[in-house]
Amino acid sequence: MSFTIDVGSARVTQLTELAHWPFPPRELFPHAGDAEIEDASARLTPEFFDAGSGDLVLAIHTYLVEIGGKAIVVDTGNGNSKHRPNLLPHHMFGTDYLSRFADTGVDVGDVDLVVSTHLHPDHCGWNTNLEAETWRPTFPRATYIFDRTELAALEQLAADGPHEGVVSDLAQTFEDSVRPVLDGAKWEAVDDGHVLAESEGTRVVVRSAPGHTPGHVVIEIRTADGGAVIAGDVIHHPIQFLYPDLSQGGDADPEIARVTRRELLERCASEGLLLLPAHFPVDEPITIEFDSSGAPSASGLIGLATS
Ligand SMILES: [Zn+2]
Repeated sequence: MSFTIDVGSARVTQLTELAHWPFPPRELFPHAGDAEIEDASARLTPEFFDAGSGDLVLAIHTYLVEIGGKAIVVDTGNGNSKHRPNLLPHHMFGTDYLSRFADTGVDVGDVDLVVSTHLHPDHCGWNTNLEAETWRPTFPRATYIFDRTELAALEQLAADGPHEGVVSDLAQTFEDSVRPVLDGAKWEAVDDGHVLAESEGTRVVVRSAPGHTPGHVVIEIRTADGGAVIAGDVIHHPIQFLYPDLSQGGDADPEIARVTRRELLERCASEGLLLLPAHFPVDEPITIEFDSSGAPSASGLIGLATS
């Protein structure tokens, strides 16, 4: 599962870390009602809903953006060998992601910038790689870009420990996927509007998109007449096209996340931005439209016609 598209002068490759990542619906969306889950089952099976198990089907994608001679990795997936005993869907992966990364023709040593939409374990995991029992930056020459708010929040959480449960796994994410970068790589903390690269009228820009986490960002690739947006966890699953107000259990501030999701989907529709999701099990970019009732739909996604 992966694709490459041209967005202006940028070449964007979706590189999938995990193609099939199932979750019981209420594990992701604790407030989903029976009717909403039944509706999702009827309209999203089989691509996004496994009727046999009753699970929502997700994936984990990362993106490689090549522009003006620069290589930028956006979101680094879950990573291998990360100990997440309280977040078992994230625990101890052993995928061949790095060899598939090499198949893109870009060497990890040639990556210029690495940026995460946010610092949850499945978006910054391959920031580091375990070498001789030590976590080392996976992209040794890269400058790692962090949203200033996001980095400060996770750093503070780790400093406030020791923690228990899920929070201890978030603190561990700082220790194994962020601290080794701060200690052993080039890095920079940036704010809304930071331009990562610009070439021939195409710009790659960090844009604030809070709610899921305090400093969540999206990465926009803007051209004169549209572009694409790497959306991270602003939207997790196509059930949120059917019910855009459905908050995900991990949303730090569900109300802000809801507004951010609405605004992003509306902007994709009105500004002609392709949606490049982190977790939809799809191998194509998504075009957002709004129907006459004001509900968002995604053309190209089977079963999502909002008739
Ligand atoms: Zn995620």
